[in-house]
Amino acid sequence: MADLPSIAGDVSALTQPQRDLLALASSLGREKFAGRAARWDREASFPFDNYADLRQAGLLGICVPKAHGGMGADFATYVMVAAELGRHCGSTALSFNMHVCSTLWAGAIADALDMTAAQRADHERIRGLHFARIVGEGRIYSQPFSEGGAAAAGKAPWGTRAIKVPGGYRVVGKKIFASLSGAADYYGVLCTLEREDGEAGTLRDSLYLAVPAKAAGVAVSGDWDPLGMRGTVSRTLTFDDVQVGDDARLMPEGLYFQAASRYPHMFATLSPTYFGIAQAAYDFCVAYLRGEVPGTPPVKRRMYTTKQIAVAQMRVMLEQTRALFLQTAREARVDPDKDARLRLYAAHYTIMENANEICQLAVRTCGGQSMLKSLPLERLYRDSRCGSLMLPWTAELCIDRLGRECLYESGERDEVIEP
Ligand SMILES: Cc1cc2nc3c(=O)[nH]c(=O)nc-3n(C[C@H](O)[C@H](O)[C@H](O)COP(=O)(O)OP(=O)(O)OC[C@H]3O[C@@H](n4cnc5c(N)ncnc54)[C@H](O)[C@@H]3O)c2cc1C
Repeated sequence: MADLPSIAGDVSALTQPQRDLLALASSLGREKFAGRAARWDREASFPFDNYADLRQAGLLGICVPKAHGGMGADFATYVMVAAELGRHCGSTALSFNMHVCSTLWAGAIADALDMTAAQRADHERIRGLHFARIVGEGRIYSQPFSEGGAAAAGKAPWGTRAIKVPGGYRVVGKKIFASLSGAADYYGVLCTLEREDGEAGTLRDSLYLAVPAKAAGVAVSGDWDPLGMRGTVSRTLTFDDVQVGDDARLMPEGLYFQAASRYPHMFATLSPTYFGIAQAAYDFCVAYLRGEVPGTPPVKRRMYTTKQIAVAQMRVMLEQTRALFLQTAREARVDPDKDARLRLYAAHYTIMENANEICQLAVRTCGGQSMLKSLPLERLYRDSRCGSLMLPWTAELCIDRLGRECLYESGERDEVIEP
């Protein structure tokens, strides 16, 4: 098979650290993850072997700042690496994103936000403990925020509550679809901090806490037998009066709300995995039509015009997707202007929808033999279906935000017209 092209397009436009990290992700993906992916999918089991490789390669600390012993990758670098991993094992890339986000949010994103000097000093001390666990001890963090209500869409306060107690917090609540449940060492839980004035908490009272998986009162329940992304093992987590210390804070009190309001790219790190899946489906389709997929007879199908047109359509869609992906990856910053924010919704939507469209085109173009479970394409197809369902930015919610924000400036309201 010909050498695979770079997921990030023009290699000469990449920095040396980006090239090095992409090469590392590519060799892990090709040599280790791709061959194991069918097993996690078949068993709906967690890819512990892949995490051992990620740990050994130092990638658990990819977004941990260099001052804390990590690789210090910025947003653009990380999402390119995430896409490359997604190309070889979607489930690993997706759950790895939950881990990396914990470090990105507490790391580079927190650095870009406003804090008092005292808050910053406190945050620096506390995140140092978390980062040391990751870099020094190889610990894994996850990011359960979905609850089955309106909170994960950003439309209501978290139902999971944190109650201030001497020296820390008491956590009570439930999270669904928690990737890495039973596998992570710490669950990065979004909760609502109960107010001292007795008023109901709002989104401004959101608090982001790392709850140790082994803490008393933490339980994993429910089964996990979904259509796709089966290796994420996203079961239900319950927190029954779980006591954590002050140093469980992954962000200072109040900072999550500021991050969610001012740094929208923080919610756009799920889609790179799906861009990787789109690239993998395209790569498979080309190899299949050339009669070059290992383990299949060397039958060429590339000479049919209909196949050529279909591959051309896939390539057009893939390059449109890549262009938006790379542009928005480089635009990640605090307080992006309105155009950049709208482009981000459009990019996220495009990646999630096109990934599934490219996979279905690949199945249709390659034909019946290509969707046998002995080949990766049917898994890519099922995995790709999950992307646009992921909160807070499902395909529907991206369109909802995009349409509203295209037509309204901040604070604008329509006069109510009486019927
Ligand atoms: C493979 C996989 C892994 C996951 N891993 C994690 C994880 O690690 N952590 C985590 O927190 N979550 C995770 N999720 C959960 C995911 O983000 C969703 O929460 C989950 O898919 C459940 O969605 P739901 O059906 O309960 O959504 P609902 O809230 O019931 O929404 C259903 C649909 O309605 C639409 N909708 C919802 N709210 C609104 C609204 N206010 N206005 C208009 N439309 C709306 C959305 O388009 C949504 O798709 C994962 C999901 C999958 C598929």
